[in-house]
Amino acid sequence: MDAKQNMLSQEMLSLAGEVALVTGASRGIGAATAEALARAGANVVLNYRSSGEEAEALAARLAEGGVRTMAAGADIGDSAQVSAMIEKVDSELGQVSVLVNNAGITRDALLVRLSEEDFDSVIATSLRGAFLCSKAVVRGMIRARKGVIINVSSVVGRRGNAGQANYAAAKAGLIGLTRSLARELGPRGVRVNAVAPGYVETDMTARLTDIMKEQIVKNTPLGRLAAPADVARVIAFLASPAAAYITGAVIPVDGGLGI
Ligand code: NAP
Repeated sequence: MDAKQNMLSQEMLSLAGEVALVTGASRGIGAATAEALARAGANVVLNYRSSGEEAEALAARLAEGGVRTMAAGADIGDSAQVSAMIEKVDSELGQVSVLVNNAGITRDALLVRLSEEDFDSVIATSLRGAFLCSKAVVRGMIRARKGVIINVSSVVGRRGNAGQANYAAAKAGLIGLTRSLARELGPRGVRVNAVAPGYVETDMTARLTDIMKEQIVKNTPLGRLAAPADVARVIAFLASPAAAYITGAVIPVDGGLGI
């Protein structure tokens, strides 16, 4: 191994020439991830479902850094919309080489009050969406013998949470999806990993009460909630050549909450 391969250099963290698709990139962790990947030199597709203006504005800002970007609307739980989005990306930016399955929703309720609709909608976005997007890009990755898929799971997928059976099932499902695809696609040159964030300051956690937040901070060894960038940096690392020998991993990014 020469000295260059041996060191964690800027070059090893570079994503220049990659085409990265981030689902749910109009805000929160997805927006921070799109920014981190663009800063590392990737051309970035920002998927959204309804927040088109936000996604367009972020895409325009990131393009000022010299990379190519596009905003792409699609409900990732809908296979026809996913196929149409990938066709558009293929023709405008080229084949996706980095996929971040980030989009997710919560519909919290205790089991006795949890409706079938709220169970299904959380699974449709957070689990089925990752399956559909992975399936839509994987042929190109296999042909290129190169690609990276990163799934955004949660500490809740590892530990469960009262009132979040639907969300926890989806996030635990993503861990199974990650490990299975890592086994299936490793021999084809495609790496598949997951991050499992703790509580991150985004719209999703904005509805937690101050008392709940205090309790979470108390149980978190690093003593704070995460910023979206805390998670985005780990995703950018996993996407980079520096993580060339990591596949099937579920990396907690939770300040120690899940220990
Ligand atoms: P957020 O601020 O609520 O943003 C969610 C994003 O997902 C938005 O861009 C939204 O776009 C998009 N989205 C929702 N449903 C979609 C669909 N069907 N198709 C396409 N896009 C869709 O969420 P966040 O907190 O950043 O969370 C991002 C991911 O991290 C989620 O998977 C979440 O479960 C996970 N996570 C979050 C935390 C946390 O504490 N925040 C902790 C662990 C894991 P529109 O606005 O256009 O709908």
